[in-house]
Amino acid sequence: MLRSFKNLFSKKQARLDIDMSHFKKILKKELKRLDTELKTVGDKDGGNWESRATDVDVLASDSADIADNIENYESNDAVFKQLKIQYDEIVNALNRIKNGTYGICEVSGEPIEVGRLEANPAAHTCMAHKNTKIQQ
Ligand SMILES: [Zn+2]
Repeated sequence: MLRSFKNLFSKKQARLDIDMSHFKKILKKELKRLDTELKTVGDKDGGNWESRATDVDVLASDSADIADNIENYESNDAVFKQLKIQYDEIVNALNRIKNGTYGICEVSGEPIEVGRLEANPAAHTCMAHKNTKIQQ
């Protein structure tokens, strides 16, 4: 009771026109998928993902092996970074659901188009501001 009372007078206008549990479900599913993918290129260290530093075997007699190792590490790292960005976006979106700011453009404070949220549930800006960089 107290909680809903507080929300009613909260300055932040939480979206009441969209089904939060629907987006929460999609985001959680996506988070799980990314978690599985990140496991293939990284390690979770106390809740934080870190790129797996594949040890480059400098004692390998064949220099081609060393080159292969370095190449594998670099592509692993690139994949990891890409997945990590997506992972963080999903985590941020879930936090916004928790804070009641989900579906609200971070630039203009306007509601984000439902179609945009359906296409990208982690969207944090409306269509008009999708290319606006936000200082984190
Ligand atoms: Zn906007």
